[in-house]
Amino acid sequence: RIVYVNGEYLPEEEATVSIFDRAFLMADGVYEVTSVLGGKIIDFDGHIARLERSLNELDMQKPEAFDDLLSIHRELVAKNAIDEGMIYLQVTRGSAGDRDFAFPDPEVVKPTLVLFTQSKPGLADNPAAKTGIKVISIDDIRWGRRDIKTTQLLYPSMGKMMAKRAGADDAWMVEDGKVTEGTSNNAYIVKDGKIITRELSTDILHGITRAAVLRFAKEAQMKVEERSFTIDEAKQADEAFVTSASTFVMPVVELDGAPIGSGSVGPVASRLREIYLEESRKVGI
Ligand code: PMP
Repeated sequence: RIVYVNGEYLPEEEATVSIFDRAFLMADGVYEVTSVLGGKIIDFDGHIARLERSLNELDMQKPEAFDDLLSIHRELVAKNAIDEGMIYLQVTRGSAGDRDFAFPDPEVVKPTLVLFTQSKPGLADNPAAKTGIKVISIDDIRWGRRDIKTTQLLYPSMGKMMAKRAGADDAWMVEDGKVTEGTSNNAYIVKDGKIITRELSTDILHGITRAAVLRFAKEAQMKVEERSFTIDEAKQADEAFVTSASTFVMPVVELDGAPIGSGSVGPVASRLREIYLEESRKVGI
């Protein structure tokens, strides 16, 4: 695989980052994951706008190559012959050559920019979308700025492992009795034909897929309500699903060991997945 590090395209074995890089020592980094369908990059502008926002919120400099990100994405897709898969991008505050809690002088220390691809043939045709996934609920003990897409992913990783150990696929996190989001996706329920998902705030990541799916749902005259919901409400729902750049719309059929609705993939989730894939393919660049 050919990867990108600070201006260079290199075989992955030759790509290096300092051990003093602040993302390695302090999770002082932000990232984006963008999907590729049919060799086309999906929702590029949305991901770059969110990256810029994450950088601003953390007083992190834009990498020098910020304006060339589209061509870097395209170059990596071409060099690695990606038809379906993902492009991972990470910007860190860089390395000051030592460990210090204070941010280094941005005049001296430049951000680190890394991108790599992940080939996932069959991403659109994912068999899990036909059967649906199982989730468990866990406490949301993450920090209070989940709207910033930082590389602090230890708790979401632990949540994923708690789910696996419980025989499930993923976890929904709960704070003050309400579902915030999945470990790496936004969470939705459907009740009486209405799509319900938590409103945007600092409590959740502002999913790029979420924005697209809600727009498509409204265009298809589906009812959308942006508000938080409880786990009990989710257990009584007709359907549930999650969205992310890597899973698109993924139906959820079981919560804490009990079936949601019929216990199989519902019509709203499957229709939204279809619309999302169809529309995204049209606008990929
Ligand atoms: N919430 C969290 C916590 C996530 O990690 C992700 C995936 N990056 C999402 C939501 C979904 O965001 P997107 O649709 O932009 O992939």
